Amino acid sequence: MEVQGVTPRSEDYSRWYTDVVKMADLADYAPVRGCMIIKPYGYELWENIKSGLDRRFKATGHQNAYFPLFIPMSFIEKESEHIEGFAPELAVVTHGGGKKLDEPLAVRPTSETMIGYAFAQWINSYRDLPLLINQWANVVRWEMRPRLFLRTTEFLWQEGHTAHATADEAKEETMRMLETYADFAANDAAIPVIAGEKSASEKFAGAEKSFTIEAMMGNTWALQSGTSHYLGRNFARAFDIKFLNEENELEYCHTTSWGVSTRMVGGIVMAHGDDKGLRLPPRMAPIQVVIVPIWRTDDQKDLVMGAIEGVNRTLTDAGVRVHVDRREGITPGFKFNDWEMRGVPVRMEVGPRDVESGTVVIARRDVPGKDGKRTLSQQELEVAIPQLLVEIQDHMLAQATEFRDAHLHRAGSYDELKDIVKDGWALIPHCNTKECEEKIKSETKASSRCYPLEENKGWNAGEATCPVCGKPAAGLAYFSRAY
Ligand SMILES: [Zn+2]
Repeated sequence: MEVQGVTPRSEDYSRWYTDVVKMADLADYAPVRGCMIIKPYGYELWENIKSGLDRRFKATGHQNAYFPLFIPMSFIEKESEHIEGFAPELAVVTHGGGKKLDEPLAVRPTSETMIGYAFAQWINSYRDLPLLINQWANVVRWEMRPRLFLRTTEFLWQEGHTAHATADEAKEETMRMLETYADFAANDAAIPVIAGEKSASEKFAGAEKSFTIEAMMGNTWALQSGTSHYLGRNFARAFDIKFLNEENELEYCHTTSWGVSTRMVGGIVMAHGDDKGLRLPPRMAPIQVVIVPIWRTDDQKDLVMGAIEGVNRTLTDAGVRVHVDRREGITPGFKFNDWEMRGVPVRMEVGPRDVESGTVVIARRDVPGKDGKRTLSQQELEVAIPQLLVEIQDHMLAQATEFRDAHLHRAGSYDELKDIVKDGWALIPHCNTKECEEKIKSETKASSRCYPLEENKGWNAGEATCPVCGKPAAGLAYFSRAY
């Protein structure tokens, strides 16, 4: 039996992505257009994303809660920009229990309104603030051009919602969660992101300011991978979220919201994958070490499987996620290719000769060929494997960072921008107007990604003008093709 490989990434990026997602058993399309069935391997990847984020949310003082899936239409309509932004993507329930409903119910596209309603009940005085809540849930936004994990009508996410006494505290929270996302992306997902502010036309419907982490995929396109919004008093006014301050006066709260979704799974696939398929950073990998037994006779099988039992126990006790490939009637070569395609960071081979010498042979997914192969004694595995996983994690972040940095460029003119965005991101002084963004989009297919925080720190707009339209520049913005 031959392993049917994925379409090489270098040949057709789009087909490669779909092949990897399907053949690595991450997900499949559902009978309902735009929806996906997340398979166990893909779901475990999501669970690892979840636990990495959840741990960070709790460490920064947030608590999880759950709010209803159905939101009265009148709630969504309360914040004028919010309804304008979300109306085209809403799924609306008009009937229930065989009867037409008095008021239609929106299937939540996001929960600012429902949580705003709850916050108004929960908050009375300054002593109730800050209120720091997170929800893990599914949301629905009608999707015309679905792509597995990247754009689906229903997707899984977390949405953080917080209320604060002052604008400064709410802004601090907005930035703290943006940094939390950037930290997760770099240290757990091995994706170095660019954190920045969204342009005026790309900000969240109802927000004062929206911030984003933008990740570079293997084809240099950008993927918006998480957002954090400062909502000012917009939702507090719409939902009457007030508190009694220390002077006993009623004031509106300042609120924030922030989210990361199952898009992140697609981001991990596209940031790290290669011609052979997935490459998973160890912290995210559902299986960190796969053990492939090699034997010909039944005696050898008993010997090899016995040794593997011991190795499996040692590694599991050391906190490593191990899988023993016990499938019979399949060659080791087939198994090697299969696990390579599924992106398992370390493959371990154990044959009769290894048992005799008390060793195993390991192969790294991130270092192809002979260079990634090594023989280890069984006694050192307990220490060596966790160390190796850290080394692989760091190497993958370094590779992704090197790739990203090689494709970030400053553009001095519109012509330069046009050239750069064919294979990278262009940083230009931009006017932050919708008309100019649309002109660039229609002529180059590149969109405004963000005003990166780092690059704008030391930059003074001064007399700078937008090289595309000549208007005064608002800041330095990245433009690129994007998902
Ligand atoms: Zn312009």
